[in-house]
Amino acid sequence: MTETITNWAGNITFSAKELHRPYSLDAISALVAGSERVRVLGSGHSFNEIAEPGPEGVLLSIAGLPPAIDVDRAARTVRVSGGVRYAELARAVYAHGLALPNMASLPHISVAGSVATGTHGSGVGNGSLATSVREVELVTADGSVVTVGRDEQRFGGAVTSLGALGVVTALTLDLEPSFEVEQHLFTELPLDGLDLTEFETVMAAAYSVSLFTDWREPGFRQVWLKRRTDQPPADFPWALPATEKLHPVPGMPAVNCTEQFGVPGPWHQRLPHFRAEFTPSSGAELQSEYLLPRRYAVDALRAVDGIRETVAPVLQTCEVRTVAADEQWLSPSYGRDTVALHFTWIADTAAVLPVVRRLEDALDAFEPRPHWGKVFTVPARAVRERYPRLADFRALARELDPAGKFANVFVRDVLDG
Ligand SMILES: Cc1cc2nc3c(=O)[nH]c(=O)nc-3n(C[C@H](O)[C@H](O)[C@H](O)COP(=O)(O)OP(=O)(O)OC[C@H]3O[C@@H](n4cnc5c(N)ncnc54)[C@H](O)[C@@H]3O)c2cc1C
Repeated sequence: MTETITNWAGNITFSAKELHRPYSLDAISALVAGSERVRVLGSGHSFNEIAEPGPEGVLLSIAGLPPAIDVDRAARTVRVSGGVRYAELARAVYAHGLALPNMASLPHISVAGSVATGTHGSGVGNGSLATSVREVELVTADGSVVTVGRDEQRFGGAVTSLGALGVVTALTLDLEPSFEVEQHLFTELPLDGLDLTEFETVMAAAYSVSLFTDWREPGFRQVWLKRRTDQPPADFPWALPATEKLHPVPGMPAVNCTEQFGVPGPWHQRLPHFRAEFTPSSGAELQSEYLLPRRYAVDALRAVDGIRETVAPVLQTCEVRTVAADEQWLSPSYGRDTVALHFTWIADTAAVLPVVRRLEDALDAFEPRPHWGKVFTVPARAVRERYPRLADFRALARELDPAGKFANVFVRDVLDG
């Protein structure tokens, strides 16, 4: 490949022999049918080798497909091409007086790539972004176009699929009537004395709640509450109201973040932390995230607190969120109401990896499932054991891709060991 292609973070350089950006469904079908190994690149926001096709493979970007976004107001659904990013999708949906139920911390990511890895926002009642998907259109290994809908048994593997089933060319998502959100920030929420009941109450205090800490002290430096204006507000006595606008990463400008101080605004301009037209997060970083059964939340936080002197020197910020249980077989939230412990590290792989290992040891007892799109070193065998429907996913992958055309090293590790 003459062009050097890296992921967003720059820590992965893809080694594919060719990069293709087909402009039509027919061109995708022909390319897939005529290739031996294919991986699709979304917006490249994953931090590991999940999208890497290997030196003999083809890296296929569908960013060149016409960015179709077809809203059906009566049915409250939208059909969107896979390469479209949430920022663009959300603007179109909002213009029709409709809404997506939730968004990730940033709107810069592609829809197909996000749901493929189980990307999520926060909220005790909010599932991952994949839970909005009702139908997926795929170009499978022989070049044929297959549609899988929510009423089919195999739908359980079709959305959070790690890119292992084919090229997702379009998705149909459920929508709801548009709503407004106010973002209220607080500071200094102590960890000392926090028990599971209180943790659950804190995390349920608004539609979406995030806690942030840099683990330089026990407790949380910031709490972000995203309140829907159509739901009754709850008091928040656990922390102090913020006196200035904040960015989750200490030292970064708050102007990069969505509007705060309780100013009501459209859902898509409040649910993500970062504005579409600015660099999200710090821009120079690695990320890891572990999703655990929510009942372990406080014990797991105490375990991290126990090693905070190891964690803090390579950490920019840690975010704690909740995700509702879902039914996608490979979703990190499959079958369990989840607490997600996210870590934004400094951009130094050599310094970060030993800390990631230490953190994984500290969290091991809590059945963590690593975020598919982030840095982790949990052995594949342990990952496999945490997915009770893995055999069903394997069978689906064999049905749609018998020769393993879409299986790279990352996926083979997970599926086969
Ligand atoms: C700054 C930052 C903030 C983030 N915040 C969050 C967050 O709030 N919550 C969260 O859960 N995650 C978060 N992430 C992680 C991110 O959401 C995931 O890595 C997600 O997969 C990114 O989507 P993408 O389009 O960039 O996917 P890519 O990294 O391009 O690809 C991911 C996977 O999807 C597959 N794929 C992509 N497109 C297709 C397609 N059309 N057909 C088939 N397979 C496809 C790829 O092959 C690969 O396996 C964040 C990442 C960054 C960089």
